[in-house]
Amino acid sequence: MDAREAALRQAYGHALGWLASLADRRVPARASVEEVVRALGPELPDGPGDPAAVVDLLASACEPGLTAFPGGRFYGFVIGGTEPAALAADWLVSAWDQNCVLRAASPAYAAVEEVAGPWLLDILGLPDGSSVGFTTGATTANFTCLAAGRDAVLRKAGWDTARAGLAGGPAVRVLAGEQRHMAVDLPLRHLGLGEPQLVPADAQGRIDPDALARALADGQPAPTLVVLQAGEIHSGAFDPFPAAVRAAREADAWVHVDGAFGLWAAASPAHAHLTAGCAAADSWATDAHKTLNVPYDCGLAIVRDPSAVRASMGLHGDYLILHEQGDPSDKVPELSRRGRAVPVWAALRSLGRSGVADLVDRLCRHACAFAEGIAAIDGATVLNDVVFTQVCAAFEDDERTERVLTRLMDDGTVWISGSQWRGRRVMRISVSNWSTTDEDVERALAAIRRAARTA
Ligand SMILES: *Cc1c(COP(=O)(O)O)cnc(C)c1O
Repeated sequence: MDAREAALRQAYGHALGWLASLADRRVPARASVEEVVRALGPELPDGPGDPAAVVDLLASACEPGLTAFPGGRFYGFVIGGTEPAALAADWLVSAWDQNCVLRAASPAYAAVEEVAGPWLLDILGLPDGSSVGFTTGATTANFTCLAAGRDAVLRKAGWDTARAGLAGGPAVRVLAGEQRHMAVDLPLRHLGLGEPQLVPADAQGRIDPDALARALADGQPAPTLVVLQAGEIHSGAFDPFPAAVRAAREADAWVHVDGAFGLWAAASPAHAHLTAGCAAADSWATDAHKTLNVPYDCGLAIVRDPSAVRASMGLHGDYLILHEQGDPSDKVPELSRRGRAVPVWAALRSLGRSGVADLVDRLCRHACAFAEGIAAIDGATVLNDVVFTQVCAAFEDDERTERVLTRLMDDGTVWISGSQWRGRRVMRISVSNWSTTDEDVERALAAIRRAARTA
């Protein structure tokens, strides 16, 4: 066995050990950053070491500091796990080590993107022929789509951003719901557009389409972007797309949808009503590493008009072999990157259309079970309408909610994030992992009841 094979076998053993531990291990990490640093050893070695021994040291030192993100009882933030075919395909991505900039450089990679892109449009109910770019996550997907939108509305106003930049050009107006994710504000800042103008939202966090129409009608017409949301992180609520898109169209705005996890409702016949009207937008950002459960990092930047995203993201250096069909790098801000479409293809190929629908329905069913179980606990109230995968609950006062959250984290059976919503300290549950079972939900509810009893 050569050194490479020995290192890979070592990694394989550790990976299987880690995955097998997920069923029963404590969800939060046992070790602190400092403890892992000590175990790794902070000194840079003077010379080479055996690759297999390096992998062994890495895995052994990190094991106690790992959080069970891919396990069935992690409900914090919005975090997916790793579907088996997607994880295995991701290993191949590293072994293949393809540079995914150009079609001509890796026909295999370009082909996988070409197959996976239309599958995604089909499953998400988005227009045929849209550009599908594979980004690091939804934040970068928002960036990519909003860049295409910014440049398109300025082009319509006679301004060429690619050539002239932003300075001296017409001001771009950006409107977003007040409960938008901060992953919208950050790319707007990167794009030189500053803070969005906030439009009031209802109690579930859905943008008020009448308030949007009034805000758009107010003031001089200007190049405008409207950012809508599919899936609010506390309530899981979806913006009322038909009315909101209509209002935006009347103002000739570019409409973008941040659907990091919520866009996947469209994949399920039972939940597709939540995204109704969403396909009439101009661009959509979502994550594959959340609801689809592929490994990090993988987001999707989808733009109805491929030439719009190509104008903003394409590279036109003449030393590159430009293909008339466009290159993978025309759709995202990066040049060299890993083959992110490969695990997406593998997840879709192994789940099929019905498998993705079942996955979405299962996550929603677990969320409803959480809501029912929590509502039955003395002093607990579920604060949101549970329409998708998110549940927000609170106890009588912020102090008790905080005590329950602390007990829960000490207990270690689950990871549930605390958050602030509608002026209250809340317990937020996001069911996003393919491997969560009914039994996991039962164990989690038992842990919440235990924490509530003593808090
Ligand atoms: C998670 C999330 C994002 C950010 O996604 P990343 O993949 O972390 O970049 C944006 N919007 C919403 C609604 C999210 O839930």
